[in-house]
Amino acid sequence: MVDNNTKINCPDCNEEIIINTKQLLLGVKFSCFNCNLVVGLANESKSVVSDAMNQFSKIKS
Ligand SMILES: [Zn+2]
Repeated sequence: MVDNNTKINCPDCNEEIIINTKQLLLGVKFSCFNCNLVVGLANESKSVVSDAMNQFSKIKS
């Protein structure tokens, strides 16, 4: 089974947020435990998400 967990930095407070990329693509949202900023696919955090996906594929390969 593939581990889809990855970390991104919160765009607001720069705290690390652990996200599951597979769930993210399914529309699940993750929130920053520090400032409660919600990271999901459907909004302005899309660039953050694609960054995370890029990093993830780099790690994978
Ligand atoms: Zn935050």
